[in-house]
Amino acid sequence: MFYPDEIIEEVRLHNDVIDVIGSYVHLQKKGSSHFGLCPFHNEKTPSFSVSKDKQMYYCFGCGAGGNVFSFIMAYENYSFVESVKYLAERAHIELPEPEVSEEVKKAINYKQRLYDANRLAARYYYSLLRKDVGKRALAYFQDRKLSADIMKQFGLGYATQFRDDLYKYLQKQGFLDQELLDCGLLLEDKKHKGEYYDRFFNRVMFPIFDVHGKVIAFGGRVLGEGQPKYLNSPETKLFDKSRNLYGLNIARKSRESFMIVVEGYMDVIALHQAGFDNAIASLGTAFTSGHGQLIKRYVDEVVIAFDSDGAGVNAALRSIPILKSAGLIVRVLNMETAKDPDEFIQNQGVEAFQTLLHNATASFMFEIKQLSKRFDLTDPEYRTRFSEEVAKKLLSIEGKIERDNYLEAIVSQYHMSKSGLYELLAKHGNNVGIAQRTPQTMSRDMGGNSHKKREEGTVLAQKQLLAILVSNYKIFNGVKDIIQPEYFTHDTLQKVAYIVFDIYKTKQEIEPADIMRRFTQIEDQKMIANIFSEELKVENQQQLEKLLNDTIRNIKGDYLEQKRMNVNDPSGLMTLIQEKKALLNFYLHLDEIDRRD
Ligand SMILES: [Zn+2]
Repeated sequence: MFYPDEIIEEVRLHNDVIDVIGSYVHLQKKGSSHFGLCPFHNEKTPSFSVSKDKQMYYCFGCGAGGNVFSFIMAYENYSFVESVKYLAERAHIELPEPEVSEEVKKAINYKQRLYDANRLAARYYYSLLRKDVGKRALAYFQDRKLSADIMKQFGLGYATQFRDDLYKYLQKQGFLDQELLDCGLLLEDKKHKGEYYDRFFNRVMFPIFDVHGKVIAFGGRVLGEGQPKYLNSPETKLFDKSRNLYGLNIARKSRESFMIVVEGYMDVIALHQAGFDNAIASLGTAFTSGHGQLIKRYVDEVVIAFDSDGAGVNAALRSIPILKSAGLIVRVLNMETAKDPDEFIQNQGVEAFQTLLHNATASFMFEIKQLSKRFDLTDPEYRTRFSEEVAKKLLSIEGKIERDNYLEAIVSQYHMSKSGLYELLAKHGNNVGIAQRTPQTMSRDMGGNSHKKREEGTVLAQKQLLAILVSNYKIFNGVKDIIQPEYFTHDTLQKVAYIVFDIYKTKQEIEPADIMRRFTQIEDQKMIANIFSEELKVENQQQLEKLLNDTIRNIKGDYLEQKRMNVNDPSGLMTLIQEKKALLNFYLHLDEIDRRD
């Protein structure tokens, strides 16, 4: 732990889970819990539950779960310590200096060193842009019509053509080679081991901020004709490309209900300067589902405004399904009269761009349009093939109403026969139905790895047994002589089991918070929330009794089996056989323990 337990507990008690999560997710009370749409997966009906009594959340859809700290860690991408700090501040609680082991202190300090190096590098580049040496770079930005204000807002800078300029500067500030390598600011000379030089030189510089406004990386565009034109920091301890988007630190605060997705840094900056503070770009990679989910935290809709050339269109076609799968409504800007948003706004002005946004095409119609370009629609044969492709595409839409709406739109736009298209739908609908259900699903079900399945079964049994034990002291009391914490082979579950056995020594009731506070990893907390939330699929006492005895048999049976493989001496083997016999004869009747008091 980094802070004393009592402090963490105080912070937790002053941050009611309903208040905190309610400020991120719209929650509605239903029975003893509050429900809302899960922020961690895409869904249309709420399966994300928050319990005031248990002070925890759990998603029945994706299994995300934990307490108020885990929520902040997952949502804001914070470490445990950061989430404690954040919630302490929210509740106006003053934190003492953290109480940390040397090792942890080192790790935290090291990360802070990397942030510091990045911040100083950004400041250094920023100052160079405004000096004599940065004249050419400044002229480059001014040519692109960027104002001094916007350059300041985005912290634009300049890396000189000297290959050790930043290196020397940061060395003077006391940074070590390893730190600068780990920031991605330095490269090692391939011919001279142990010699380093700046990753970025002779480039205009774009610092990359995380959502909290900290500099985590850089992008640089070469001045003149060098290669590569754009260069990005590599992934580092601070910089994960799939969890960050350029401009998101500003766009997430925009009042617009959608975001504009563009291709590069300059497009983002140009749009922000023109008043579109909701523009973002990926950082030199294709869009991932992680990006989609990140965007979905803030808005429900995106408008893709990539370059109008072939590469831009292909990138849009690739991004549409990814963004849609995150549950975003996706529209595409029709910008055929200009190369990119920057050029469009410079030539035709802000208002024209506003109109363009307003008229952005639904992504489905954009896909159909690109499809139509592959066929010569004046030729009857190609026209038929186009119709077939359209029908297949229409079938990918799940909702009937939505599908019919698109069908109407396509019929009128491409002058197609409505009844003909319906016929094709029926024909392909059948084919698709059959084709999808046979080969793939069968091989997935039958070719499954039985060893893996068995392992999953054991973990499930361990979870179920713990779920029974944490909620019922009497049952625990009835089985504590036959089951031991060490029988739980899953790491986290074993820790939980030890804690449960420990708490029951002095109390007869277990609160989720009491267990959860001892874990700081999101994955562990998720698992614990799962234990406390997952409804055991039992309808009555008999079923509960059966589940209890089955899980005990399963877990202890596995444990004994494992042990048998490592036992060689006859007496040890004897004991094992007796234990196995005892297990076979063991059966706990629930009505018996009720009478035991
Ligand atoms: Zn979920």
